Amino acid sequence: MADKVTVAVARKPEAIGREVILQGWVRTRRDSKGGFSFIELNDGSCLGNIQIIADQSLPNYETEIRHLGTGCSIRVEGVVKASPGTKQPTEVEARQIQVLGWADPETYPLQKKHHSFEFLRTIAHLRSRTNTFGAMARVRNCVSMAIHEFFQSEGFLYVHTPIITPSDCEGAGALFQVTTLNLAAVPKRDGVVDYSQDFFQRPTYLTVSGQLEAEALACGLGKVYTFGPTFRAENSNTTRHLAEFWMVEPEAAFFELEDNMDLAERFLKHIFRRVLERCEEDMRFFQERIDPQCIENLTHVIEQPFERISYTEAIEILSRADKEFEFPPAWGKDLQSEHERYLTEEYCRKPVIVFDYPKTIKPFYMRVNDDGRTVRAMDVLVPKVGEIIGGSQREERLDVLLERMAEQGLKTENYWWYLELRRFGTVPHSGFGLGLERTLQFVTGMGNIRDVIPFPRTPGNAEF
Ligand code: ATP
Ligand code: MN
Repeated sequence: MADKVTVAVARKPEAIGREVILQGWVRTRRDSKGGFSFIELNDGSCLGNIQIIADQSLPNYETEIRHLGTGCSIRVEGVVKASPGTKQPTEVEARQIQVLGWADPETYPLQKKHHSFEFLRTIAHLRSRTNTFGAMARVRNCVSMAIHEFFQSEGFLYVHTPIITPSDCEGAGALFQVTTLNLAAVPKRDGVVDYSQDFFQRPTYLTVSGQLEAEALACGLGKVYTFGPTFRAENSNTTRHLAEFWMVEPEAAFFELEDNMDLAERFLKHIFRRVLERCEEDMRFFQERIDPQCIENLTHVIEQPFERISYTEAIEILSRADKEFEFPPAWGKDLQSEHERYLTEEYCRKPVIVFDYPKTIKPFYMRVNDDGRTVRAMDVLVPKVGEIIGGSQREERLDVLLERMAEQGLKTENYWWYLELRRFGTVPHSGFGLGLERTLQFVTGMGNIRDVIPFPRTPGNAEF
């Protein structure tokens, strides 16, 4: 009896001699003079294809097999043999080939060998059949597993925070509103929208961060993390912003900023180590096709301690830099991406954690330092991508928090439950957010964030 196996399994030397059933999509077919055909088959289980040898003695050789082309789906039953070629250890001698689905070569969009990433975005439903997006999907899977593995091994609980929320996690970005009101006839009272008729009887949004709710869970459970979709309606058409992206947010009670920085560094190194261990073939592909430095970068990052500099030092370094910035660096102004990239790419040449930012440019929940001017914020910056992690120690002192909210003109009644965390059994705590897609950009060297998520959401773009 033949076993159903994946191409990844059949490509291993241990598979030699096994009777197998393979199912997948034809990448290419070529016919040999000797009365047989070679079919390169891929099923997404690994980057490499497996070569199928189809002999003319197969009953459907003339009627079907010789008409197979790129994109057709087939089921192959056969025996795994040692391959005489050097490219792969095995090949499969077919006993039977069944065509599952034809793909008309005149209209199948993935006919050519090379397609631009721009074009592939217009066929996101088919691009998982290409080498690049197959490799990306497997690396994305590996990174996701590594994230869970890391936090589980560090004793963090995986918790789920709501996607629909009434809070806007002040300062994190523009919001998508969630409503069931009829937009063609919005009910109003005294000229303003009457939310008492909306589904939740109040305005609600898609979450921009699970942080506030994660804080509530950490202040009871100790160490927690969330890993889920996050939404920002920012109209920024950059190569590093999506309207829907995935964020990992650990939050830990009894963690101060140093603990938070240590955690972030261990975390990133764990992810990169796992990618190098488990995605060798895919990473070699990214090295050859996308970024010749990508493997070296990861190795370098794993081996060295991250640099840590305060925001004030960062501004001094930038002011001394022999470089024309579009935005001149100045204390009190936010770091622009050109500044971030100078610090990590040119000055330190490795990941940098910048901490203690001016309180005027950071949200109300970050803990105020004794200097009264800065807060315990931290951003992790990496070459090429810039900010990959943003986090802080949270303000646990009720009086200071209330003062900060007043400074920023926030209504305390909207945050009543958040304030109660400080009113009842408050503890020092910290956390951060890592963008999954920016991490993948750093790992693979992919230039555009739209190419590290299967179905990207950006302004004007939600076709699939
Ligand atoms: P930036 O300044 O780069 O727009 P941010 O400071 O708004 O980012 P945070 O609110 O600190 O981002 O979010 C934490 C992390 O989430 C960021 O470090 C980044 O990795 C990721 N992230 C934030 N916004 C986006 C986005 N629009 N698309 C993809 N990833 C994002
Ligand atoms: Mn940030």
